Amino acid sequence: MIYLDYASTERMSDESFEKYKELSFSHFGNAGSTHAYGRDASRLLEGFRKCCLKALGVEKTHDIIFTSGASESNNMAIKSIAFQYQNRGKRIISSSAEHASVSASLSQLKDSFGFDVALLDAKKSGAIDPRELEEVIDKSTILVTLIGVNNETGAISPIKEVAEIVSKYPKCYFHVDATQAIGKAKIDYSKVDLISLSAHKFGGPKGVGILAYRKNISFLPLVSGGSQEHGLRGGTQDLPSIGSMAVALESTMKSPLPNARVHSLALKIRDYVANNPTLLRLNSPENASDFIVNFSFLVHKASVVLEALSEREIYVSSVAACSSKGEPLSHVLLSMGLDRGLAGNSMRVSFDRDTKEEDVDTFLNALTDILKELSPR
Ligand code: PMP
Repeated sequence: MIYLDYASTERMSDESFEKYKELSFSHFGNAGSTHAYGRDASRLLEGFRKCCLKALGVEKTHDIIFTSGASESNNMAIKSIAFQYQNRGKRIISSSAEHASVSASLSQLKDSFGFDVALLDAKKSGAIDPRELEEVIDKSTILVTLIGVNNETGAISPIKEVAEIVSKYPKCYFHVDATQAIGKAKIDYSKVDLISLSAHKFGGPKGVGILAYRKNISFLPLVSGGSQEHGLRGGTQDLPSIGSMAVALESTMKSPLPNARVHSLALKIRDYVANNPTLLRLNSPENASDFIVNFSFLVHKASVVLEALSEREIYVSSVAACSSKGEPLSHVLLSMGLDRGLAGNSMRVSFDRDTKEEDVDTFLNALTDILKELSPR
């Protein structure tokens, strides 16, 4: 098979899997148990916490809550901050090109709890314009939440500029959904107050993630329970998953960016799209992360092309996996100003660090054949 859908998920790396096995068999104790075997698990857990903080470059300023993944981290960052700090103000600012776990959390706060949510559209760059943020942010704003790298287009948000604007409002926090940014874009996380990530997007296991937060932030826990995770998230910690995530995060953050090899793969697809202007339109902006390339079909139906590729065991995505079974229309492309025809007819190709050039060639050859074989929609 040829797998070009790494933005949906990655296979666990060998070293991450080895760590998972080791911890599952040799350190299965509960980190909350008071006996020596439990204390041993707890010591390891705190070591992994430090290792993750260090890999993100925020070991002095931030702490970590281990979660079940970025969906939970995003829900926690947004709702906990909203409920904890609503006495300061009720305004929250985000974009209309966010992951569903952010946009649905914001809708819930707006519709059921009366928060004042302002959404900025993505521009041609695929990301918001910081000048528009400057216009809507005010003293009642308690949170700005933005995607780091867009999961559909690879567009990189102007994190540094936004952090500078937010820093002028001491009662406002800045959250970045960095799920697709880890290993795919250089971001200085020290300027960000809250950071969400999911291990399976960088070679770790599924079902585990991180919410990193600046130490001065207090939370209203969403999962009440024991004293685990500084009393902020009840439930026995999954040490094997956390340990193997730490190994994967450390290795990913060490890998240099930009990655020249992945850059050449992205260029290959971008050139192919540019050479077929009557059939395809590139949606990923010029300075997007090289790991994700998105384009729309002008004549054919994306879902039919996707299925034809899938029959040849070549796997790519139309819209993000989380929304592809429901609404086929991409809210990200709509946010960038594309019409419904283009926004509902796109394809995303995504790589990992080890994607082979011949796999991309095979994909492009298959695409050429399929576009010739299929009749226009
Ligand atoms: N944010 C972004 C940008 C994502 O791409 C994803 C996964 N598609 C998530 C959050 C949620 O991650 P998970 O499904 O692992 O909770």
